[in-house]
Amino acid sequence: MKSAPLVILGTGMAGYTLARMWRIKDKERPLVLITRDGGEAYAKPMLSKALSDGKTPEELVNATAGQQARSLKAEILTRTEVEEIRPQSHQLKLADGRLLPYGQLVLASGARPIRIPLAGDAADTVMQVNWLDDYRSWRQRLQGKKRVLIIGPGLIGLEFASDLCKAGYQPVVVGPDETPLGQLLPPEVGRFVRARLEEAGIVLHLNTVVERLDHHGDALRAQLGNGTVLEVDVVLMAVGLQPDIRLAQAAGLAVDRGVVVDDYLQTSEPDIYALGDVAQYPQGWMPYVAPITAGARALAATLNGEATPMRLGPTPIQVKTGVFPLWLMPPKPGTPGAWTLAGDTQRLEARFEGEQGLQGWVLGGEAVALRNAWAGELRTRTTGV
Ligand SMILES: Cc1cc2nc3c(=O)[nH]c(=O)nc-3n(C[C@H](O)[C@H](O)[C@H](O)COP(=O)(O)OP(=O)(O)OC[C@H]3O[C@@H](n4cnc5c(N)ncnc54)[C@H](O)[C@@H]3O)c2cc1C
Repeated sequence: MKSAPLVILGTGMAGYTLARMWRIKDKERPLVLITRDGGEAYAKPMLSKALSDGKTPEELVNATAGQQARSLKAEILTRTEVEEIRPQSHQLKLADGRLLPYGQLVLASGARPIRIPLAGDAADTVMQVNWLDDYRSWRQRLQGKKRVLIIGPGLIGLEFASDLCKAGYQPVVVGPDETPLGQLLPPEVGRFVRARLEEAGIVLHLNTVVERLDHHGDALRAQLGNGTVLEVDVVLMAVGLQPDIRLAQAAGLAVDRGVVVDDYLQTSEPDIYALGDVAQYPQGWMPYVAPITAGARALAATLNGEATPMRLGPTPIQVKTGVFPLWLMPPKPGTPGAWTLAGDTQRLEARFEGEQGLQGWVLGGEAVALRNAWAGELRTRTTGV
């Protein structure tokens, strides 16, 4: 099947990074990429800081689909929906009925934002921003508005809140967590970060949820579970992502939270691989850039006949809250130890130490400059190198 094209489903960071690395190794074999969007190459992490950076959607585009097709020597099918994977016959069925053959297929089809249903006659106005097309709509919706309610005090929600704040909007964040970034930060560090966000002008309503959203003249009225009523202009929901496993599941591939792959990124079908937010690696589901880069490097070699497992060391997490930026490395769950925290309005240094020394850390504000030194210290403690 090797002379049949390599087909990559998806032109996000996973699809394009793999295509670029693979094309360096194989200059001849046909390559086809398929996407339901316009196929522009862009860095998705920029979406949650583009507003305050003053970037239009066009300015986020590093290359159009046409430019990508030429540099990758590939056929790129844009605005094209894949409806079915047929592993037996090595074919994809497209929404227009066409059947596309593949020699090997890579699923790089990403994850979708989770949408929590809300009561109220304005529930359908809630926005979500996960792709470049969403960012276009987001910019349009914000025009002439000021007050923005963000549902979700996690990483993405707070990045958007910070971006809005820096761009002159009034963000209000609501969520059931006791402290912001509740899944990444211990409560004492979360409380410290909350104070910095509030000083910058971000209002947080925590320990509660939005129960309903209704039109109220030109504005929107949000009813919270704790009885508070907020009047806002725009609502954004950022409560997490869900790998898009529907096609894989229907085709009989092994799925769990994501499409299950081994160290070689191979799914339960021999000629089908998965990479990026859709994949569940042996280490777990990791919807970040670092596994995409490491995975694409390994998979490019494997697809070229040099079986190569993906290797990924621990990588720090960046939280692009420009009003008070954070870098962190959570300790492994269950590690014994305690947090110590030092900081002021400009900086935060929090260390999690056990008997073996440093096991995790959080740096904030001006202290993020220490991140390489602290990452190195943690690596030395855990690997001895
Ligand atoms: C706002 C935001 C900020 C982020 N910031 C960071 C950060 O600072 N650091 C970090 O490491 N990570 C960050 N991430 C995560 C990172 O951006 C993602 O892990 C990465 O971009 C995922 O790329 P992907 O190619 O797997 O998926 P996607 O970008 O979602 O691409 C999926 C592709 O599949 C196509 N597709 C799917 N299904 C079909 C179908 N049936 N038919 C046709 N086409 C289909 C889509 O059109 C698209 O081209 C951020 C994410 C967001 C949303």
